[in-house]
Amino acid sequence: GRRKLVVGNWKMNGLRAQLGEVEAIGGLARDHAAVEVGLCLPATLIAAADGVKGGAFIGAQDCHMKANGAHTGCLSAAMLVEAGASWTIVGHSERRQDQGETDADIAAKALAAKAAGLKVILCVGESLDVRDAGNAEAVVSAQLLASLPEGAAADWLAIAYEPIWAIGTGRIPTMEAVATMHAALRAALASRIGADADAMRILYGGSMNGDNAAELLAIADVDGGLIGGASLTAEKFAPVITAA
Ligand code: 13P
Repeated sequence: GRRKLVVGNWKMNGLRAQLGEVEAIGGLARDHAAVEVGLCLPATLIAAADGVKGGAFIGAQDCHMKANGAHTGCLSAAMLVEAGASWTIVGHSERRQDQGETDADIAAKALAAKAAGLKVILCVGESLDVRDAGNAEAVVSAQLLASLPEGAAADWLAIAYEPIWAIGTGRIPTMEAVATMHAALRAALASRIGADADAMRILYGGSMNGDNAAELLAIADVDGGLIGGASLTAEKFAPVITAA
């Protein structure tokens, strides 16, 4: 079976004043060791968080596709590893939109992360227009195959399905729609990587919280969650971890 993976994405939130929350979430992770729990933090907090992470892993939210060079303001995967990260997100919709990242960029970032020893959460998801047009499964499956790096394997890469219209809105798809999408994504993975698709975790993200986590995580192909707002405090994150 696939071990559940529950990851908080703090986005552009968190100063040292919030390290107590990291420590408390690390304690929750230690108490629920059957679940793999992590926090993808602002890069400025990674080194400090490494000392208080308890049973959680610390991840980054992005990395550059190059190993080094003239890229002002950017961080390489090796820098993030040295700071204490063991995972990174790539391809979050906020970066696809705000930084104009393409599928090819995201595949390159995933490869750079892998080369430096980071595990990867690769994000995909549709806009509301695509959902309303009725072809979300085909669009997101194509996005996944275009973003998937060469050599993608379940031991270093997980997928996060995050419908853009569900992020930070309090809206989620129906459970049936989530089940249909996750099954479609697993089939798309199988077409590319064969039997290893059965071992690859596919997370749901978008307004996941303590009220809806149990139902979402009970869906056959939902192997965990990528949680924004509800991961910012241990109090909010605890019921999501417990539900897994
Ligand atoms: P919310 O949980 O705040 O909707 O964010 C989801 C997300 O984008 C996680 O990466």
